[in-house]
Amino acid sequence: DKSLVWFRRDLRVLDHAALYQALAGSRQVFCVFVFDKDILNLLPRQDRRVEFIHACATELDVELRKFGGGLIVRHASAAQEIPALAAALGVNAVFANRDYEPQAIERDLAVATRLKADGRAFVDFKDQVIFEKDEVTSQSGKPYSVFTPYKNAWLKKLALLADSGSDSPLHSYFIDSFGARLAPCGAAAMPSLSELGFEKTNLESLHIPTGISGARKLLDDFLSRIDAYDVTRDYPSLKGPSYLSTHLRFGTISIRYLVKFAYDIVRMKNSPGASVWLSELIWRDFYFMILHAHPYVAERAFKPAYDQICWESGAAAEKLFAAWCEGKTGYPLVDAAMAQLNTTGYMHNRLRMIAACFLIKDLGIDWRWGERYFSEKLNDFDMAANNGGWQWAASSGCDAQPYFRIFNPVTQSIKFDPEGKFIRRYLPQLGKLSNKTIHAPWLAPSSELRAAGIELGNDYPAPLVLHEAARERTLARYAVVKAAS
Ligand code: FAD
Repeated sequence: DKSLVWFRRDLRVLDHAALYQALAGSRQVFCVFVFDKDILNLLPRQDRRVEFIHACATELDVELRKFGGGLIVRHASAAQEIPALAAALGVNAVFANRDYEPQAIERDLAVATRLKADGRAFVDFKDQVIFEKDEVTSQSGKPYSVFTPYKNAWLKKLALLADSGSDSPLHSYFIDSFGARLAPCGAAAMPSLSELGFEKTNLESLHIPTGISGARKLLDDFLSRIDAYDVTRDYPSLKGPSYLSTHLRFGTISIRYLVKFAYDIVRMKNSPGASVWLSELIWRDFYFMILHAHPYVAERAFKPAYDQICWESGAAAEKLFAAWCEGKTGYPLVDAAMAQLNTTGYMHNRLRMIAACFLIKDLGIDWRWGERYFSEKLNDFDMAANNGGWQWAASSGCDAQPYFRIFNPVTQSIKFDPEGKFIRRYLPQLGKLSNKTIHAPWLAPSSELRAAGIELGNDYPAPLVLHEAARERTLARYAVVKAAS
């Protein structure tokens, strides 16, 4: 009747399925977070996410202490440390919330096997999603492969269950009545960032609120804007979205709480903003479901025919890719987007779509290269959403989008950043160009460029490719898909 709760991507106390279940069923509950060497050793020594997690774990410890408990913190290989700690504490079971990434599933299986060999249980719970892969399926019981029918079935199921008390997928887990069962854990022993082998990044100067309190702050702020979300979310220069993705990634706020929040607004009043935002949260569940049901997508195209595509390769491709990574493509909105990613670890959703499409369909680079770069840079990197987003952009994913839809980076720029406000924020060297020419400086009259103090190729790159010609190459490249299907 002693148990250990293993916190992973769920760094909160309130509405935490595993913590609640452990407290409900055990006399004494220990809590642990492992800075997992199997993951951390692969990262660069400066990584905003490690700093973010560090701040969140510190706050989690404070919150657990309010209930008389505390967080045991380890810097080790989690797969080895968890069974060892469970044995040292003499617990009967380890409780955790389920993770759907292939490597995490493998790790959890290894941990469960070792625990079992010692006569201990590994008990896991749904917590990260509203519905797991087998809960929303087509009539034939198969996972959906297109979003809209999935979303309709998801909403139907939610409507059916939302008011069913403790069976509701939106039911929250309150621990107040059990708090006293948390095992005290002595003085705080949080290793410093440098003890973990990491250096400080610019996270502090970005004023990204961290921890449970940070998530709450962002949600409160978004509350005043949610009704306009359906319109504002598309313009990167506006404060449109919630900026909660990193918090959802590390679980400082529960998805149940957010869905309930949006769902209640939708039910209470006509709010297109809340209903579109709810839809984005359903995309999140959708991509978790896709990755869980089809783990091969982590390496290959969801639609196998797209694996036939022959991408650019060799030194020329490396050069194009490096220019894209550095935000030196010569297309201002793409470059501003990459500058946002490189300097803050965030990129606006519209820009993720534009930058990804540009890499794949203007530069002819394998979507997996971009996916990897985003995975290294995004604060909110999540394998399921990132892979889904990249496969969407490559048209190889589970969307109904036809393969020949190719974003035009200039028209997208004119449409979604009409006054070039976002571009000017990240590319101040283009600041003096007019609203008309800022989207494609190579088309600006030379007198305007001179007056703006810009020499193309020197102060700002000439375009790497011309979109029309690139578009033709892409149509030819993608022709193998048509031939194969
Ligand atoms: P909001 O607009 O406020 O949306 C609320 C929440 O809904 C987000 O926090 C996120 O959890 C979820 N969400 C929104 N859009 C999507 C989507 N298309 N797919 C899945 N979930 C969504 N999102 C990530 O969380 N991690 C990633 O690694 C990631 N990589 C992406 C890569 C590409 C190429 C693309 C096109 C999209 C990617 N997204 C990713 C989805 C989306 O861009 C981000 O979730 C969003 O920009 C985060 O900002 P926000 O929290 O302000 O979003």
